[in-house]
Amino acid sequence: MGAPMARKKLRLLTSAATKLNDMKLDFRKERMLAVVAHPDDAELLCAGTLARARADGAAIGIAVLCNGDGGQPHKPIRNLAAVRRREMDAAARLLGAELFCGNISDGTLADDRASRLLLTEVYRQFRPSLVLAHAAADYHTDHRAAGALAEVASWFCASRGQKTKSPPLSAAPALWWMDTVNMSGFEPGFYVDVSGFMPLKEKMLACHRSQMARSSDSSFSPLPELMRLQARARGTQAGVGAAEAFRAHLAFKRARAW
Ligand SMILES: [Zn+2]
Repeated sequence: MGAPMARKKLRLLTSAATKLNDMKLDFRKERMLAVVAHPDDAELLCAGTLARARADGAAIGIAVLCNGDGGQPHKPIRNLAAVRRREMDAAARLLGAELFCGNISDGTLADDRASRLLLTEVYRQFRPSLVLAHAAADYHTDHRAAGALAEVASWFCASRGQKTKSPPLSAAPALWWMDTVNMSGFEPGFYVDVSGFMPLKEKMLACHRSQMARSSDSSFSPLPELMRLQARARGTQAGVGAAEAFRAHLAFKRARAW
């Protein structure tokens, strides 16, 4: 190889390396749907990523399957499900997200036929390109059921054999497993830098006032502290100020090249 050719090759390699260093997921064309069990789960586990995608120009949806009626503070709140619905609405408005509520009682969510079709219809209405779902190792039975349902619906939504009110989608969405609450038993596959979106994540969590009222319960972890610690720990692992961790679901037709 002559000297000019070698120099040209070096320039090409250097420019590819610079591009790699600048590499950042761009969510502009996504329709991102978080499928969560309870009203404040999205805030804890993926609100920074949703906010970053929204800032890129993506369409954002949050499907909350349970109504939060089991999350009573020490001094019980009357009509808790209605109160939590208002709190969810306020948080979703801050984000600019479309909200879907399954209205299923806390502690009763299961991967059954009715819930599968309910969530499949949500997918067909929102038309996600990317779904965020609870990981199989998460601590709460509703989280595990919500994760299983999100996975089933990611296949059913594009299947003509599964009939709901709306027509099937032309393609199944990609699916990312979210970190677990307190990071227990979750090995991250990759991280999303949410350093710039922590103030919004905090504000969204603060909408869930009925849950903040549980801070004095000895059996309940203060949520803002839990959220900050987790975002900072994941950020430290990834070399940024704050991050959310995920793993890609690599099943047939749910895997994608990024
Ligand atoms: Zn939850």
